[in-house]
Amino acid sequence: RKGTVIITGASSGLGLATAKAIADTGKWHVIMACRNFLKAVKAAKKAGISEENFTVMHLDLASLDSVRQFADTFKRSGRPLDVLVCNAAVYLPTAKEPTYTAEGFELSVGTNHLGHFLLARLLLDDLKQSDYPQKRLIIVGSITGNTNTLAGNVPPKANLGDLRGLASGLNGQNSSPMIDGGEFDGAKAYKDSKVCNMLTMQEFHRRFHEETGVTFSSLYPGCIAETGLFREHIPLFRLLFPPFQKYITKGYVSEEEAGKRLAQVISDPSLSKSGVYWSWNKNSSSFENQLSKEASDEEKARKLWEVSEKLVGLA
Ligand code: NDP
Repeated sequence: RKGTVIITGASSGLGLATAKAIADTGKWHVIMACRNFLKAVKAAKKAGISEENFTVMHLDLASLDSVRQFADTFKRSGRPLDVLVCNAAVYLPTAKEPTYTAEGFELSVGTNHLGHFLLARLLLDDLKQSDYPQKRLIIVGSITGNTNTLAGNVPPKANLGDLRGLASGLNGQNSSPMIDGGEFDGAKAYKDSKVCNMLTMQEFHRRFHEETGVTFSSLYPGCIAETGLFREHIPLFRLLFPPFQKYITKGYVSEEEAGKRLAQVISDPSLSKSGVYWSWNKNSSSFENQLSKEASDEEKARKLWEVSEKLVGLA
């Protein structure tokens, strides 16, 4: 049978390129889990993804009700779940004030981390039950977890501190909108959310790999300087960022190439090791990358897991 893969945020950028790459193999059916249904259908058609290889299902990660509804709808569809890819993200580097999810969490961490945390928890059993030879849960990370690169060290740096802001609700009312309890900074909130993604992948691995046989992985696909992620940035940045990445840092990767990389993490038998943060070298070959100190802190991962469970109503 064909494999079934859910990809969140498949309506643009990396998610769309991955949906295209994996659907074109003819061996997979892609569930595009997107907040804007029509945009996703149009994007899939424009990318030339053949109709029998994809289904769009509504998912707004900035609402935990929507996440629960999506999980229910998927379960009732009767499809098996072989791979889940947590890819969607928002990045608000120029925001002066925080904005919030339906439940009142700061939007970047609420969407990128908490929405995906609940989704992955709700669908873990479905992955466990899959009889597919290799079942996987992938959470897209970022370079902010690599201390061995220049880009991973550009300020403001990620720092979750002792999680005091998150533990008290991340709502900007009776708590700070930042995980570490500090002042709002949109670029930092995004980086913090990506560290959460990488810590969550490892905690899933420690708690569930042996019991479920699921492979848990994360990746940094390279700098895809032309995706919608930078849509909130100032125009000059959007003009200069792609050539800067191409010619100066040489970290640039096209959407198509990045999509092929994530597709490898979905289905390549040689990338089946669990608990790994994948990266690619200049020749586009994959390797197991080292994570920064904070992004591999086991104690923090455990605490983040417990606090997140409370916030999304699982504990
Ligand atoms: P895009 O902005 O192009 O894609 C982000 C996707 O997430 C869009 O489909 C968007 O939907 C979706 N999304 C945003 N908010 C929600 C929500 N509330 N519910 C459901 N979906 C939502 O960015 P990229 O493709 O660049 O980013 C994809 C992933 O790659 C992210 O995890 C990012 O952190 C990661 N990444 C990107 C890098 C880069 O250089 N671009 C580098 C390293 C990692 P819509 O189309 O409706 O806006």
